[in-house]
Amino acid sequence: MNSAVECWGLTKNYRGLRALDGLSLKIEPGEFFGLLGPNGAGKSTFVKIMVGLVRQTGGWAQIGDAPAGGVRANRSFGYLPELFRFPPWMTGRELLNLHGRLISMSSPDIAKRSTEVLELAGMADAADRRISGYSKGMQQRIGLAQAVLGRPPILFLDEPTSALDPVGRAHVRNLLAALASEGTTIVLNSHLLTDVERVCDRIAVIDHGRVIKTGRPSDLSGGGPLLLRLDGWDKALIEQLSERFGRVETDINGREIRIYNDDDEAAPKVAAFISTHDRRLYELCRERGTLEDVFLELLGRGDGE
Ligand code: ADP
Repeated sequence: MNSAVECWGLTKNYRGLRALDGLSLKIEPGEFFGLLGPNGAGKSTFVKIMVGLVRQTGGWAQIGDAPAGGVRANRSFGYLPELFRFPPWMTGRELLNLHGRLISMSSPDIAKRSTEVLELAGMADAADRRISGYSKGMQQRIGLAQAVLGRPPILFLDEPTSALDPVGRAHVRNLLAALASEGTTIVLNSHLLTDVERVCDRIAVIDHGRVIKTGRPSDLSGGGPLLLRLDGWDKALIEQLSERFGRVETDINGREIRIYNDDDEAAPKVAAFISTHDRRLYELCRERGTLEDVFLELLGRGDGE
């Protein structure tokens, strides 16, 4: 089966500025894929090439088995750009009607599907109000409704939640999760790491126009120390733990211990060891870094930058 979205060695120069520098990516059908990277990394340029708004300088890009930018590729996706403006005099429903006609949907289908997507985007109550009266967040949600109107198998979203408050973001996350569970391939470009971490199956970290890492969010942020919470500890216990399991750190309140051992079997062994001592174990888990920690580490931008 073809991948849903694929590119090899994609380059893009804007008058001497190298926005993409050999970007290669493969996104499988049905994946919820996140693009992460600092401002200027090239994420929007990649999306714009995929949706045919920008032509690459070099390399190859395709959607399904069709070259990106061609008519066949353009029929297979929905798109919500980062910066968009809809005609302010239209109502949300009129906007959907226009888009439905532009993509050759039948009138009864437009009416039925508009009601569905307005509901999904939480815009049903505002559907017959003019867009000029919509907040930025409402405009983003009507934009999303427009992007999914034609039931596209692939969806490109460039910063779809940037203007939303936490409630609006949760709403959009749920909408996207519902689309993903129906098999839509979603390519999400967002700087909101928690959103990406929560919803994406896989992510690519992009910097200076290249992919520097891909993986599942949990794989990228996995592998911290084991954290133990006890009713207390003494020097002898710490010495024995470090002899058996590796480096141990204790905290100042005398209850938490961190053991730096990334073996999956370490946790049950530590639990068994503690149970042979006169200590009560309240918690034992693997601490994971946040995606933000991983992101900063990958980009080599620690504290202060
Ligand atoms: P991101 O989406 O990761 O923030 P972009 O793809 O928007 O990154 O931009 C990548 C680089 O290309 C940036 O340095 C940006 O300034 C530059 N760039 C983007 N679009 C244009 C353009 N139309 N003309 C000139 N430079 C551009």
